[in-house]
Amino acid sequence: MTKPFLPPINEYLYNLEKIWESNILTNMGPLHVDLERELCSRFGCENVALFTNGHLALEIALKALNLEPGSEIITTPFTFVSTISSIVNQGHIPVFCDIDDDCTIDVDQIEALITPKTAAILPVHVYGFPCDVERIDEIARKHRLKVLYDAAHAFGVRVNGKDISQFGDISMFSFHATKLFHTIEGGALIFADSALKTNIDLYKNFGISGPETIELVGLNAKMNEFQAAMGLTVLPYLDEIIEQRKTIFERYMQNLDNIQGVSIFPCQDKNIDYNYAYVPILITTKRNEVFDVLAANNIHARKYFYPSLTKVECYRQYMRNNSTRKAETITEQVLALPIYPSLTFEQVDRVCRTIQEAI
Ligand SMILES: *Cc1c(COP(=O)(O)O)cnc(C)c1O
Repeated sequence: MTKPFLPPINEYLYNLEKIWESNILTNMGPLHVDLERELCSRFGCENVALFTNGHLALEIALKALNLEPGSEIITTPFTFVSTISSIVNQGHIPVFCDIDDDCTIDVDQIEALITPKTAAILPVHVYGFPCDVERIDEIARKHRLKVLYDAAHAFGVRVNGKDISQFGDISMFSFHATKLFHTIEGGALIFADSALKTNIDLYKNFGISGPETIELVGLNAKMNEFQAAMGLTVLPYLDEIIEQRKTIFERYMQNLDNIQGVSIFPCQDKNIDYNYAYVPILITTKRNEVFDVLAANNIHARKYFYPSLTKVECYRQYMRNNSTRKAETITEQVLALPIYPSLTFEQVDRVCRTIQEAI
């Protein structure tokens, strides 16, 4: 399904030597500072805060938005469980909105779900496909709601030439080994309002602001220097990684176009610079059987995302009366196919041939 990108080991060792020189292993050391600065300049943003993983970044973003305890947060069930568990862990209530054909939140259904307890919208740029950021912005402004994007999949994506991180109040990126850009484990929050930076940095370090001062109730979610060193080593390869993925992605699209019973997503919109993070397809009937045939041929696709969180015991209770039928249909049909820079055209062709034979 994926293979983590490993840069040349000498380049990682070069950055590790800096850790041996500084003797600083964590707690916002020089490499942490460097990586925040590099990301700011690459994405043209004012504020980046790094974390030990994307999930804790999401929880801390929710804390930093300062919502009333027990607020309702409109999100979708078609996501990785982290999106929803962060809401529940922070004492809020997830409200499931259905998705659109492109797997992102169906903006036409958001307003009907707003109640006096609604405080925020937490949409997901699923597979790196951008949500309808402009409509979400309008709705949020009209109803005075905060917008926190789960942009875990969307590193490097641009909409109308603007980096995806520039929409909403805060965007969360995951730097897990399986994501497009990684720091082994890791994550970041990107946000425009510099006033948020102080508290976000406090929350990730126990709320400690000085040797004898504790300002707020925090967590431990700091990115360490070995993670930052990996990020600094991988970052220069990012454009190359995206280029290689694009070639593989296009090979898939050519091959899959002719297979009956398979549909692909129209993510080649002219306003969007896609990052080619995933190759999701829909198999209209017998997805599970196709998955099994692939597995028997040593091809590891992933039912990503399955099951729908509306069917999971500990999250089912948050269902309202609204329909989430599209999300449920897509979880039964979707398969994410293998993609990583070293995947060859021969391998791509074999995956597609196996799908065709299975169908
Ligand atoms: C990976 C992922 C996360 C969590 O990120 P981690 O860095 O693994 O903690 C959250 N949301 C989505 C949609 C993800 O894919």
